Amino acid sequence: MVYESQHPLVKHKLTLLRNTATEPKKFRELIREVAILMAYEATADLELAAKVVETPMGEAGGYELKENIGLIPILRAGLGMVDGIWEMMPGAEVWHIGLYRDEETLRPVFYYNKLPTSPTVRLCLVLDPMLATGGSAVAAVDMLKKWGAERIKFVGILAAPEGIARLQTAHPDVDIYVAAIDERLNDIGYIVPGLGDAGDRQFGTG
Ligand code: URA
Repeated sequence: MVYESQHPLVKHKLTLLRNTATEPKKFRELIREVAILMAYEATADLELAAKVVETPMGEAGGYELKENIGLIPILRAGLGMVDGIWEMMPGAEVWHIGLYRDEETLRPVFYYNKLPTSPTVRLCLVLDPMLATGGSAVAAVDMLKKWGAERIKFVGILAAPEGIARLQTAHPDVDIYVAAIDERLNDIGYIVPGLGDAGDRQFGTG
């Protein structure tokens, strides 16, 4: 399943993110905000357990989250998506995966992985703002499945049709949540019209 947001807040913020005039501080704020809005959609089907609490007026039937969640940011651009989402679900565990894209082959190369030996969470949210070629996302999901992850969703900001096709072909069970699906990739694997390099624009290294 691919979910492309139609929410006016997301569309407004995404336009600011795309604009080259948006400086890194504002860009980081927007990545954080759009990440929260996308995670809100991606977690709409979380399982709940019934829970009764005492209010000042009496008993109230309510709920608590049943599933423990892992946030898996792909370094480095995924880092900016963590904090806001984590505030919404402070019990989540955060497991970093370091992957970079070899600029010649456009293939993902692992350089960091801090996953524990066996899975500690039921739902993994893979966080990467850009689903471009799909190479990093597929490699991250491959690794999470080998690790034993039961349920995995991809949460991003922009996707190219090529990246969606690649992730869906390799892992049809992984739902994809993005703010928008753009036209295409260019010949160096960047999303068009996109927003440029999401890592450089967050960290001021462009
Ligand atoms: N990574 C980015 O940061 N931007 C793109 O357009 C593609 C990959």
